[in-house]
Amino acid sequence: MSNKMDSIVSLCKRRGFLFQSSEIYGGIQGFWDYGPLGVELKRNVREAWWRDMINAHDAYSTPEGAPSAFGMVGIEASIIMHPQVWKCSGHYDLFHDFMVDCKECKSRFRVDHIQVALASSTSGPARCETYIHNSDEAGYSGSKKKRLEKAAGEGGSVSEVSLDRYPAVLAEHGADVAGDLIPRCPVCTGELTAPREFNLMFKTIVGALGTEEDAAFLRPETAQGIFVNFKNVLDSARVKIPFGIGQIGKSFRNEITPRNFTFRSREFEQMEIEFFCHPETSQHWYKYWRDRRMKWYKELGLSEERLILREHDKAELSHYSTGTADVEYAFPFLPEGEYGELEGIAHRGDFDLRSHMEGKLDEKSDPLVLQLDADGNPKWKGSGKDLQYFDDQTRERFTPHVIEPSAGADRATLAFLCEAYTEDEAPDDQGNLQKRTLLKLNPRLAPVKAAIFPLIKKEGLPEVALGIYREMKSAGLNVVYSQQGAIGRRYRQQDEIGTPWCITIDVDSVTDGAVTIRDRDTLEQTRVPVSEVTSEIQRRLRG
Ligand code: ATP
Repeated sequence: MSNKMDSIVSLCKRRGFLFQSSEIYGGIQGFWDYGPLGVELKRNVREAWWRDMINAHDAYSTPEGAPSAFGMVGIEASIIMHPQVWKCSGHYDLFHDFMVDCKECKSRFRVDHIQVALASSTSGPARCETYIHNSDEAGYSGSKKKRLEKAAGEGGSVSEVSLDRYPAVLAEHGADVAGDLIPRCPVCTGELTAPREFNLMFKTIVGALGTEEDAAFLRPETAQGIFVNFKNVLDSARVKIPFGIGQIGKSFRNEITPRNFTFRSREFEQMEIEFFCHPETSQHWYKYWRDRRMKWYKELGLSEERLILREHDKAELSHYSTGTADVEYAFPFLPEGEYGELEGIAHRGDFDLRSHMEGKLDEKSDPLVLQLDADGNPKWKGSGKDLQYFDDQTRERFTPHVIEPSAGADRATLAFLCEAYTEDEAPDDQGNLQKRTLLKLNPRLAPVKAAIFPLIKKEGLPEVALGIYREMKSAGLNVVYSQQGAIGRRYRQQDEIGTPWCITIDVDSVTDGAVTIRDRDTLEQTRVPVSEVTSEIQRRLRG
């Protein structure tokens, strides 16, 4: 991990943002607990999403870039659903990764996470070296590079391919996976097992009997809870197409290699929208959501330089998708120039609604042809329910197309933390410049909105300060009070957790009825009457 990432991880533990789950028992890989500050930060991320996407949405005006006005509603579906849901969605058959293990050091890797660098001399493939994709821990080290250059020799070249595609690339050159062309463990160069398939869904048993027939799954995405409720929402919420249904909730994936802090966890939270529209306008809506979601991250503080919108090329698209774009962020644990996915925005056509109506669709050929079993019946039966939409104005009946902006709350929280982490210099109590660490979080996301400090513990200052503290608390603002330690130290403690404003009550406050608001980023100090301090902080929070 990079130095910056090490500092962020250590701040998260020291100040109570994130802890390893079950740490006192040695931890459990891929699971994380949010501490007192982390829970506030993540709640603020979720609330910003829910407010901006659902609650504050104006259904009667056309937002910039959208083809028309539209409605937005929310739901909260259960985590365990009818097992048939996952059969029809494709997760039961297809939601798997291939993994390999190192027979020596016992490391486990996702096949598509191992990158093979292949040296080809003028007479063909000569040697390969492996390293872990998206990680600088066991990166493409100097000695590996030298061996490859030597094997390539004069006029040769080195190319890269992920391990899952490597045998096919060798076959194209008429070469076999043998000798120096055998990919070895990127960590210890030990022998790797053959790839094995691994379904990512966590299985559980519902009910007391505990037979395989009672097997159910923890949802690997929140989206299916929306699709299966499409008709319920349509019939109860008086919405008309186009409209979106949003949901925030936990999802579970038995990831083979959870890593990079909370970036890839086994239990995580998603913030997903399924947006239902007419097939003819669906491409406009796809572009609208893609751009709108990108803008959301920027408005909440992610910098243009570290954020990209990456359109998938044809080969990357699922067969049913006519467009997918990922919002990606340059996390500090990634090598320079690489990005990690924050959110995927996919045009899913009518695939999901049709699957839940008619059964499991053929994944390989025409998606609208039912996959049949040996007796000619659909492989997995759908619900048989009519999930079409009837437009009572145009008298048209159709299966809506779906645009799916699917974001991760934990990845977004991590990106906001990484972006906010800053080291600079600020004057101490004596006016000498000292190093300081601060989180430049957007005030909407900051766990604590303001800290209230009486300069000294006497002369009536604590009483004034506690009065402000209580007024702000009853206004619903998460604020803290502290009268301990030198004022400079108190400021620094708040800077480090991203508190945007500190309110200081000094001896003059008792006579002039005014206090000082100090800004975390600019260090600017403003004098404000005590009677206006709560409304001033609320005004600043609105931006
Ligand atoms: P990846 O390629 O990184 O495994 P994905 O393409 O499988 O991600 P989606 O299925 O599109 O991810 O899920 C939508 C969002 O859910 C992702 O953009 C990410 O923010 C979040 N997410 C998915 N898997 C995880 C995970 N294991 N840990 C944390 N967040 C996740």
